Amino acid sequence: KETLIKVENLKKYFPMNKSNILTHTQNVKAVDGISFDILKGETFGLVGESGSGKSTTGHLILRLLNPTDGKVYVEDKDIYQHSDRKFRKMRKDLQIIFQDASWALDPKMIIEDILTEPLRIHKIVPRFETEKEVKRLLDIVGLSKNDAKKFPHEFSGGQRQRIGIAKAISTRPKFILCDEPVSALDVSIQSKILNLLTDLQREYDLTYLFIAHGLNVVKHVSDRVGVMYLGKIMEIGNVNTIYNDPKHPYTKALISAFPDPNPEVKNERIVLKGEIPSPINPPKGCLFHTRCPYKMDICDKVIPQLTDINEGHKSACFLNEEVMAKIE
Ligand code: SF4
Ligand code: MG
Repeated sequence: KETLIKVENLKKYFPMNKSNILTHTQNVKAVDGISFDILKGETFGLVGESGSGKSTTGHLILRLLNPTDGKVYVEDKDIYQHSDRKFRKMRKDLQIIFQDASWALDPKMIIEDILTEPLRIHKIVPRFETEKEVKRLLDIVGLSKNDAKKFPHEFSGGQRQRIGIAKAISTRPKFILCDEPVSALDVSIQSKILNLLTDLQREYDLTYLFIAHGLNVVKHVSDRVGVMYLGKIMEIGNVNTIYNDPKHPYTKALISAFPDPNPEVKNERIVLKGEIPSPINPPKGCLFHTRCPYKMDICDKVIPQLTDINEGHKSACFLNEEVMAKIE
């Protein structure tokens, strides 16, 4: 498969606002040097606790933020090199679905106007066809054409998410950032929205970056998974490898949070102690060492590098000899 998006040593540090000439600036290292590819037509799942840098990574890929360092290529084009004007043309290829669709839906506008806006801005269909196109979009996401005249508040959370999806696909994008698209919804609705996303992906050849807290949702929709902790990627691999043969203790802990109901699957259980440390003052060495039941002497002194363990499977833990070999 071809690469659609290439992320290279991406960093985003947010300065703390209290700095002045006397106190040196402290940074929140929201994303701290990550590299990965997203392949055409796949769903890449990015998981981790709150504050691990998942959303910031997604926003950097859409150029909603500028990076402190590093690069993002979309079809080999460096998106930060483009002028704003030129990037605006690429914008229609790169869309977003929010956790709460309300963020994308102006409460004072009816659905027809909300969906017409991107169609006009990006000249997707001729003006006289926008009304028809809005109806088509509503139909695609499982809503009725009568819904076009309603306001966002007249819908349930699940329906609003369908409108958010209609808005995202309206520009016929190549890539959609799905930022926790079902975590605010009832469990009964979650699978319906996930099925819709999967159907649309197949139908329109979409590529997804799917962000979630836990591995339980990502497991069902992803081809490959990256596990983030405090701004770095701890492990990356095919979804089956990540579930059946996880190498990093943090990944094992995330899997333990949702034990497999199948008794034949015997993953080690690791219960996470404590909270994720502050990204202002992250632990030295391995970022996970303050919570890791396997911590060794080296772990709080040297940073483990994300290293190939097997074809397409990388881990950043000294329990893997390949990672240990890198420091010798
Ligand atoms: Fe645990 Fe050490 Fe591996 Fe980090 S490098 S996950 S502290 S064993
Ligand atoms: Mg987030």
